[in-house]
Amino acid sequence: MSKKGLKERLDQGPVICAEGFLFEIERRGYMSSGEFVPMVSLEHPESLENLHRDFQHAGSDIVQAFTYNGHREKMRVIGKEELLEPLNRSALKIAKKVALDTPIGIEPNLMAGNISNSNIWNDKDTKSNSEVEKMFTEMVGWAVDEGADILIGETFYYAEEAYTALKVMKQSGLSCVITIAPMGENIMRDGVPIVDTCKELEQRGGDVVGMNCFRGPNTMMPYIKEVRKALKCHVAALPINYRTTKEHPTFFNLPDNNGCTYPMQCNRYEIGKFAKEAFDLGINYLGVCCGANPMLIREVAESVGLKVPASKYRENMSSHFLFGTHERIAKHQKDYKEKA
Ligand SMILES: [Zn+2]
Repeated sequence: MSKKGLKERLDQGPVICAEGFLFEIERRGYMSSGEFVPMVSLEHPESLENLHRDFQHAGSDIVQAFTYNGHREKMRVIGKEELLEPLNRSALKIAKKVALDTPIGIEPNLMAGNISNSNIWNDKDTKSNSEVEKMFTEMVGWAVDEGADILIGETFYYAEEAYTALKVMKQSGLSCVITIAPMGENIMRDGVPIVDTCKELEQRGGDVVGMNCFRGPNTMMPYIKEVRKALKCHVAALPINYRTTKEHPTFFNLPDNNGCTYPMQCNRYEIGKFAKEAFDLGINYLGVCCGANPMLIREVAESVGLKVPASKYRENMSSHFLFGTHERIAKHQKDYKEKA
């Protein structure tokens, strides 16, 4: 089966990518918050498959293997290093299975291998940095083995770590998406400005370069606008679903966030508005990271003019028992809506 490549799709229009599986699978009861290791691919593979199918139904064009935090360092933290390769291969096989089973009438999904922030990269003490490169190399190897169509490197908050991830991904010869997640100081932790990091990633061969995670629409948009202006390649924008502010640019320190609650969530229209605005700026790779759920991915897809399988179930407020306009909605209910 011949599939269109990522660049060809992006040249023609929007491509939607669901991310943020960590929070969504935790919310569904299959992961421990804080620990955040995707053991689900081994312990409840059917739930992970369902998660991918739900996002596919909602319009995601890419099935990203859930290997975020499924790297050697995290596996050491939880004392399960021996499960590293089985976990990765299982996640990749599940993603591939779903991608190959795209519903009829939809462009066949792309399966993406995934690497991400290692949490041990350190610009002040670089002795662990070669270890990080090895972690990326083994994961990219498994992704290629299991038939990934593209690779996604994401959520990097050190510029040099992102460059290293891209270098390793590019050795595979697959299309590479690379997105950064600067923290609240609005600069990469090794001191490189956000836009400069993206420019460098383009220079180093990133096919799609942009931002994901940590920032909601309000605090990602000002930077991604500049990134779009500065780059020639395709740009990615995948914010989180939280109302971050100038005072709290990322979700880590939002009021009411004790580390595992989900505070101040954006509604569907705020997410749709961000996606439309980004698309109108020429950003074609769109999605939602932490806080994403299938309803929001549908909103992203529809806000840029796409119709997806889940569009059948988009909101229809005319039938609402209090707020509806249908002739059968009883007057005593409509009249009561202000007090409801
Ligand atoms: Zn995220």
